[in-house]
Amino acid sequence: KYTIAIVGRPNVGKSTLFNRIVGSRKAIVNDISGVTRDRLYEKAEWNGVQFSLIDTGGISASEDVFVREIKEQAELAIAEADAIIFVVDGHSSLTQDDQLVAKILYRSKQKVYLVVNHLDNAEQHDYIYDFYALGLGDPYPVSAVHGNGVGDLLDQIIDDFKQNDDSAASPVDDDDQIRIAIIGRPNVGKSSIFNDLIQQNRAIVSDIQGTTRDAVDAQFQDDQGQRFTITDTAGIRKSGKIIESTEKYAVLRAQMAVEDADVVLVVIDASAGIQDQDKHIAGLATDEGRAVIIVVNKWDAIEKDDHSMQEFTAAIREEFKFLDYAPILFVSAKTNQRIKQIPEMVVQVDNNHKMRIQSSILNQTILDALALHPTPTKNGKRLRVYYATQVAVAPPTFAIFVNDPKLMHFSYERYLENQIRENFDFAGTPIRLRIRARK
Ligand code: GDP
Repeated sequence: KYTIAIVGRPNVGKSTLFNRIVGSRKAIVNDISGVTRDRLYEKAEWNGVQFSLIDTGGISASEDVFVREIKEQAELAIAEADAIIFVVDGHSSLTQDDQLVAKILYRSKQKVYLVVNHLDNAEQHDYIYDFYALGLGDPYPVSAVHGNGVGDLLDQIIDDFKQNDDSAASPVDDDDQIRIAIIGRPNVGKSSIFNDLIQQNRAIVSDIQGTTRDAVDAQFQDDQGQRFTITDTAGIRKSGKIIESTEKYAVLRAQMAVEDADVVLVVIDASAGIQDQDKHIAGLATDEGRAVIIVVNKWDAIEKDDHSMQEFTAAIREEFKFLDYAPILFVSAKTNQRIKQIPEMVVQVDNNHKMRIQSSILNQTILDALALHPTPTKNGKRLRVYYATQVAVAPPTFAIFVNDPKLMHFSYERYLENQIRENFDFAGTPIRLRIRARK
């Protein structure tokens, strides 16, 4: 799995190129948490090869932090990507900002593809010659708006990926391991929990060949021999660069980590209370259908009585309605309180996430539910439910065959989900219902 990052100073057409490559840009609306957000990160495919694309340009720069912002984008690309597309504007000459970006990119071990944008017709291709001065090899003339040259660029990038494929393999991906992502606002204690987990368990030292990224993944094993790979989304900052400083970077990194994970630990700082950004970040995990555990950290740092846990739990349930299935763990990375329970719970919710229910047992549950609570009607027509079957795992997805899907009401759908949850242990995992017309 490859990641390509697009960098360059503002207004050179990064986002246009991003959209051109991934197709029309979707604003993702999470109808459960009600949060809309731009994707700075999308999956795409070219010549049968899948990759992810990062648009660092979506991270807007305010004037005063402009230079720092450009630097951070380039650093992020170097840390996260397997290849970098560096965009410059063919209608202007080289600027200082271009040179600033280039200077940082010289340090990258990844290949940099210099793209001269805004070249809408072949006569303009001569404009690329100015940019040889950057010393990044042959520039690619492109028109992001019209698409000219984009295919050639992608052909080359994908070819280069394939060439290096034997060495640039992704980290040893054995299927038995559970991949954990730790996400949360800056300073909630992600890195501290990450470090505790590594220290308390047997770290697996594997030498992963060909990975050019900063090591932010670690592998460990519990007493039962279960293997885990864990990603700390604060990892870049640990290497001394304060990239997580802006909310958008935090969200971007969380998005990337969630995509690769089986189980997501959503970390909340007990001493800071629940904040909007916590909800925003947690929403990323549900969007992707991942198993989730809510980890309330810094439990040592607040004054407690025998109601505190209950009260905090109630507050979480109130604020994170869309995560009502997620178990909650109260921990302290500082005193190690209950950190040991994290791997155990991860194994449990991962099992639930991948659980398969036999159709006969599932249908008995549905029948019982129908008997207990009559189906809704609309315009005098009653919903009839014929049959249910599980069509996918991770997350468990159930097709429910009915006479007319339009007769399903969201509250009844919710009721059926609850009945399924009551009969089977799906703690920690979202479940999806697909209401289908019986053919
Ligand atoms: P990250 O940005 O989410 O990775 O957070 P860090 O792991 O860097 O922690 C941020 C700060 O919170 C650091 O100063 C930690 O020492 C502190 N911290 C982390 N976990 C705990 C905890 O359980 N209790 C207390 N009191 N402080 C903690």
